[in-house]
Amino acid sequence: MTEGISAGRAARIASVNFDYAAQSCESVERCNLCGRSQFVVISHRDRYGFAAEAHACAACGLVFLNPRLTAAAYGRFYESVYRPLVSAFHGRLIDAKTIQPEQEKYAAQRLECLRPFVTSAHATLLDVGGSTGVVAARVAREFRLAATIIDPAPPEVEEARRQGIETLSGMVEHHEFGNRRFDVVLLCQTVDHLLDISATLRRLRSLLNPHGVLFVDIVDFRAAYLRGWSVEDAIKIDHPYYLTESTMTALLARAGFEVMRSDYAQDHLHIGYVCRPGEPSASLPDPAGVHDLLREVRLVQNTPGRAADA
Ligand SMILES: [Zn+2]
Repeated sequence: MTEGISAGRAARIASVNFDYAAQSCESVERCNLCGRSQFVVISHRDRYGFAAEAHACAACGLVFLNPRLTAAAYGRFYESVYRPLVSAFHGRLIDAKTIQPEQEKYAAQRLECLRPFVTSAHATLLDVGGSTGVVAARVAREFRLAATIIDPAPPEVEEARRQGIETLSGMVEHHEFGNRRFDVVLLCQTVDHLLDISATLRRLRSLLNPHGVLFVDIVDFRAAYLRGWSVEDAIKIDHPYYLTESTMTALLARAGFEVMRSDYAQDHLHIGYVCRPGEPSASLPDPAGVHDLLREVRLVQNTPGRAADA
């Protein structure tokens, strides 16, 4: 249930001084999953109170911000706004240092998900969006892998470098890897932040050895709005995308990944996918599922007895 944004939270968010309306934005013309252009506007503000519209593709059910910040505007956002904004939202400091204990716990849980699939034949690990390297270090230690991380945030990469992990600065979509391939690729708590999920997954597919393993997890959009019973509170400008089981499995299949295991995380919010390389398919979500998603959104927005969320 939501009663909008509390006064204390609104004041903290205002003190971050981020003028969302003044940022460079771009329209999304085509769905990143199916390529179609018929969208349903499902909400008009995000959890911080910014006037950000979320759209659902009428054909496949992919949910995304539209318009959204440009790549350059997101670069500036992550450099100076993202951590202060998330800290203001939660009312406690969240930065490259304070996230480390949470990352340790996160890593321990993901190890169990990966354990049946990582073998002694696997030697190398690439953690995409690997932040301070906590997760990469833990997974590498457990499975005796040589770890590399790639991340666009300089302070976080520096923190990882201090732990002795090979670090690459930048975006996986643009980095020149030459002939390098990896046995285990992680995309942890990152896919919802990407601007082009389809292209990034295809890139990861090309970076994975034939016997390799990909782990990726999503914030399940349905879990996010059902737990707070608010669509608006499940939207945040830091996530261009809002994935569901239907849309994520289709994105993976189309990029050439076979899902070997799905894992509803202990937080009841994330879903992890352990995948192996396969042949790309033309898979799309079942249209009946799109219909169900839109009906559920309307139910959440209009359940009697729940506070109005304007
Ligand atoms: Zn679509």
